[in-house]
Amino acid sequence: MTKTTIIEIDKKNIDIDRLKAGAEILRSGGTVAFPTETVYGLGANALDENAVKKIFEAKGRPSDNPLILHIAKYDDIWDIVLEVSEKAEKLINEFWPGPLTLIFKKTSIVPKIVTGGLDTVAVRMPAHPIAKGLIELSGVPVAAPSANLSGKPSPTKENHVKDDLMGRVDAIIWGGDAVQGLESTVLDLTSDTPMILRPGGVTKEEIEKVVGKVDIDPALQGFKDSKLIPKSPGMKYTHYSPKADVILLKGNLDDMIKGIKRIKKDKESEGYKVGIIATDETKDKYEGDKVISVGSRKQLETVASNLFKVLREFDETDIDIILAETFQEIGIGQAIMNRLMKAAGYNVVKV
Ligand code: AMP
Ligand code: MG
Repeated sequence: MTKTTIIEIDKKNIDIDRLKAGAEILRSGGTVAFPTETVYGLGANALDENAVKKIFEAKGRPSDNPLILHIAKYDDIWDIVLEVSEKAEKLINEFWPGPLTLIFKKTSIVPKIVTGGLDTVAVRMPAHPIAKGLIELSGVPVAAPSANLSGKPSPTKENHVKDDLMGRVDAIIWGGDAVQGLESTVLDLTSDTPMILRPGGVTKEEIEKVVGKVDIDPALQGFKDSKLIPKSPGMKYTHYSPKADVILLKGNLDDMIKGIKRIKKDKESEGYKVGIIATDETKDKYEGDKVISVGSRKQLETVASNLFKVLREFDETDIDIILAETFQEIGIGQAIMNRLMKAAGYNVVKV
């Protein structure tokens, strides 16, 4: 067991000495979990193989699942990437700091353990003041995957990180909720047409406004039996899977509601305990004590922000089956549906 220090920091009034204490742990080869605008990350000095190894161990993360390198200012990119294309530069100008991760060819100082053996490296500049300040003070690129145990939903709240990583990392910075709630968009820029490897906070539509046509990794269309292998190693793992089985209902809203009611009744008659992921607009249409609204259909950002929290909430219950409403795959809806599909293991009922 590792002794984990909790460092409380108010993001609106940052105590520099506390942030420096976190940065010192990173510099000396330790692991620090910290809030970002997407989800909480678990950081270590990306150039220190031993430190990076601790991330994989703490999370139980498969070694072929590469990490994203986080930098605090643009010039720091030159240590870790070989070239920045014109398209990359435009995207960086538009979206950094923010939830867009870009894939580049890596330099030789980036250890292979960080990239899962690939010769490319994923880079992001977070916008969260604690994340930015911590990375800047550490003076090194910070490798930081989400701060959850592998297989659990990414953490968006302090207590999620504590539940997963207490006793497994050197420090956790408590800095309030990660507001956006879904991980960054991962965009591969090493081919002619940029390709989204993981949908996230920055949408396909927004990227296309800056650099024109963008592809989506066809392996993400996601069918249980698909033979396609995702280009992003992490996407092949069934993340986010709650203890209960998740079934998604797809169709127009009225049919989804009817379908959920029908399946709930059937499953309950077979003796299963059934929960429902509803929305603000629909939650009153269902009966039972485990109906949780994930947010408002009129503001999908609220759904993005709450989704992982709701999945974790169901893990605290004895529910066997979760029936979930679905969303149109437009804008942030694409990232929401990607995570829901993975949570459900692509188990979809069309109504
Ligand atoms: P996480 O930080 O836990 O959100 O996971 C990072 C995601 O970025 C995973 O899905 C990785 O597979 C992906 N990723 C990191 N580096 C690369 C890379 N060089 N090429 C493709 N995907 C990457
Ligand atoms: Mg993750």
